[in-house]
Amino acid sequence: MAEQAEQHEHDENPNPKVIGEEPDLTKGTARPITVVGNPVLHREVKDVTAFDGELSALIDDMFQSMYAAEGVGLAANQIGVDLKVFVYDCPDDEGVRHIGHVINPKLEDYPADRRRVLDDGNEGCLSVPTAYAELARPDFAAVTGVDKDGRPIRVEGTGFFARCLLHETDHLYGTLYIDKLSKRDRKDALRQMAEGTPRYATVPNE
Ligand SMILES: [Zn+2]
Repeated sequence: MAEQAEQHEHDENPNPKVIGEEPDLTKGTARPITVVGNPVLHREVKDVTAFDGELSALIDDMFQSMYAAEGVGLAANQIGVDLKVFVYDCPDDEGVRHIGHVINPKLEDYPADRRRVLDDGNEGCLSVPTAYAELARPDFAAVTGVDKDGRPIRVEGTGFFARCLLHETDHLYGTLYIDKLSKRDRKDALRQMAEGTPRYATVPNE
């Protein structure tokens, strides 16, 4: 997911609380980002079954790619990899910074009392460069999955971080946020993308 420039750039919090661990940025290499139209973004990708050094190296590359593109979340198919992995380094609305990765994520059903609480917010995606659109999302989300060692994990979030968890999980099942927009808003997002120039390397579509 793309950073939400106007809302999160100026959070005045000199010592934000951090949940998770910052990645080792001496590892990994940034890769170019796939964009809307690339088939790998439009289908469900595969479950991870091998928990090995290759998977760790993929996660390192994903963090590097996300930071290079100034994103707050990245799914593996956004660097062209057909595996259910996402990484995030994303603030919530209380200024808490969440950092981590989830493998084979599944969204939990929302508790009934929270299901109707929607946040209207601006959303963007590194795979739809330079476009933003308003999209209502639940203000709470929880995903279960495993970490790179195959241990079960659960990650939950509110506000902007809930939006991130939903957005990244959607990616791994082949859904982009623009697929959830009205026809007109989707067209407008694609127009913004056509008119803009991404500040990071992208994979050209064939
Ligand atoms: Zn995205």
